[in-house]
Amino acid sequence: MAFEGLTERLQGAISKLKRKGRVSETDVKEVMREIRLALLEADVNFQVVKDFVKKVRKRAVGAEVLESLTPAQQIVKIVNEELTKVMGSEVAEINKAPKIPTIIMMVGLQGAGKTTTAGKLALKLKKEQNARPLLIAGDIYRPAAVDQLKILGENIKVPVFSLGTDVSPVEIVRQGLEHAREKNNDYIIIDTAGRLQIDEKLMDELAQIKKLANPNEILLTVDAMTGQNAVDVAKGFNEQLDVTGVVLTKLDGDTRGGAALSIRAVTGKPIKFVGQGEKMTDLDIFYPDRMASRILGMGDMLTLIEKAQQDFDQKKALEVQSKMRENSFDFNDFIDQMEQLQKMGPMEDIIKMIPGMANNPALKNVKVDPKDIEHTKAVVYSMTAQEREDPDVLNPSRRRRIAAGSGRPIQEVNRMIKQFNQMKKMMSKVSKGNFSGMEGMFGK
Ligand code: GDP
Repeated sequence: MAFEGLTERLQGAISKLKRKGRVSETDVKEVMREIRLALLEADVNFQVVKDFVKKVRKRAVGAEVLESLTPAQQIVKIVNEELTKVMGSEVAEINKAPKIPTIIMMVGLQGAGKTTTAGKLALKLKKEQNARPLLIAGDIYRPAAVDQLKILGENIKVPVFSLGTDVSPVEIVRQGLEHAREKNNDYIIIDTAGRLQIDEKLMDELAQIKKLANPNEILLTVDAMTGQNAVDVAKGFNEQLDVTGVVLTKLDGDTRGGAALSIRAVTGKPIKFVGQGEKMTDLDIFYPDRMASRILGMGDMLTLIEKAQQDFDQKKALEVQSKMRENSFDFNDFIDQMEQLQKMGPMEDIIKMIPGMANNPALKNVKVDPKDIEHTKAVVYSMTAQEREDPDVLNPSRRRRIAAGSGRPIQEVNRMIKQFNQMKKMMSKVSKGNFSGMEGMFGK
């Protein structure tokens, strides 16, 4: 899981303060020392760490914290605000051309996720803005890059312009732009070649494409898993091509956080998107404030809600909401919700976006086996319609019958019903705005 070590260490440093009523300047210094180490260990650029710690320390030794009755919270707030600032504060949108088409050039090292991101971006524009993008296959060197883009294009139903691998990338782009003009595409996304390392020949070629296409956006794709190296790569590309934004990929992996926290400060260029999975829908806008909360283990509720809005059936979600409020949530809704949740991705990732859950020791190694979900479904399917609608009727003999019918042990059936009841209670509370005791939701 991304940022795990960093989150743990930051929380550890701050929790020491929580135990104290009042804090002294020495306490603040001690916490700052630990925060500094945590950031360095997460592979954040040295200069970035230095500046960050200086800023936080200056604010933290101010009277507002030292005299506060809740110094730990005050420090969390300051760290959160400064983390947000380091990552750019504002959401950076795509630079749109005043007149169509908007031309986006993708650059980056081989394997960073350029081709995948080109596809994801095309799909995002199509879905969210009803755009008519064209992808241009300009990476003729990486074996199969052209075919990969064509297949992506077919899957997401976005046209791909390619001339195979024998024509020069500059010529492919020239003809591709012409083609887009004829077809009236409003976005043109150019996939370019990468290398294993930055080299002069690559940069020359990219500079030629830039000159020809005059893109509104040069999006540099970097792999978050490579930490400091991603930052060096970003610096190199930016010096040569003056990129306009960065896409940080593979944030679904166990990246330590260095790239996310350093790139903006080192290059001065904003992170615009983050890739959080291999699926075509796994590209999200980068929100510095949400990312800061996520790093601090405060959860990323807003992204979770957006994900839910994207993937959930809205009508059903509203129905469930009102059922939650009326406390009439039943096993049919339970199954519906479970199926909808499954669409959102691995359960352990979703749980960690809930505030307070990211570092909950009870959930630290939680792995939700898709098989468990299937078993739960089997149990519910073995209930009669009446039992599903009115779980209160589930007496021991009914439970035994359900266990036999679903092929699951009776203990599992009992446990599941207990968890369902807990969840129902919780939902009714939450729907009335009371979030306390949420940890109980998982029955641990
Ligand atoms: P390119 O050489 O820069 O064009 O890289 P590709 O687009 O071929 O991506 C390299 C690998 O990274 C592929 O296996 C992708 O599926 C994978 N990948 C790209 N973005 C992400 C991401 O956000 N998360 C994960 N887990 N994998 C990614």
